[in-house]
Amino acid sequence: MEFTFEQLDSRIQKSLEEMGFERPTPIQKEAIPIALEGYDIVGQAQTGTGKTAAFGIPLVEKIGSRERGVKAIVLTPTRELAIQVAHELSLIGKNKGVSAYPIYGGVSIEKQINILRRGRNQIVVGTPGRVKDLINRGVLKLDRVRFAVLDEADQMLDMGFIEDIEEILSKTPKNKQTMLFSATMPYEIRKLIDKYLRPGYKTVKVGKQL
Ligand code: ADP
Ligand code: MG
Repeated sequence: MEFTFEQLDSRIQKSLEEMGFERPTPIQKEAIPIALEGYDIVGQAQTGTGKTAAFGIPLVEKIGSRERGVKAIVLTPTRELAIQVAHELSLIGKNKGVSAYPIYGGVSIEKQINILRRGRNQIVVGTPGRVKDLINRGVLKLDRVRFAVLDEADQMLDMGFIEDIEEILSKTPKNKQTMLFSATMPYEIRKLIDKYLRPGYKTVKVGKQL
């Protein structure tokens, strides 16, 4: 059966309508049903194919309404991307009471600490350095996380974030669902996949083959 947005929670359907999303993009059509089944995912697709909602819709579908505390950690290479992804996830989650908060460096950490302490955002989207800082300060607790997403993984590796990423993942429960998205699949990414994704993970590929 082909995946359509009608198969989602009606509150998410309402959000997607408000966002002007009429139908899933090819990567969303492939990835969303697999993610909803609980498989780990490796997604390979060019920019602009709708990867944010491909992982965001399953996160919002699976996170309970008004659950407290962090249930999902999303890592992105840049602050701009963290802001943009958190915004889109919050729009998707709006009608279900699921929200995302962006954390990134180069700005005061105090406000981020205060907001994380309130525990109202079930999804945290951040750049690896600041995420690590907030974990080490005891503010960001990932021990109850059920989902981890690595967005633009190849770009994060190019920027030298591999150690931070591994340190962050080591603070999350082993038995969580992980989704890794990358435009390219160099050796270092394949190593990360072998080390951190559960066996039986599914690969989703759309667009230009590399
Ligand atoms: P990627 O992460 O693959 O580069 P994005 O997730 O940022 O792509 O999506 C690219 C653009 O397409 C964004 O503006 C997003 O809001 C929009 N978009 C994503 N999915 C849909 C959809 N199903 N229908 C309409 N627009 C969409
Ligand atoms: Mg993206």
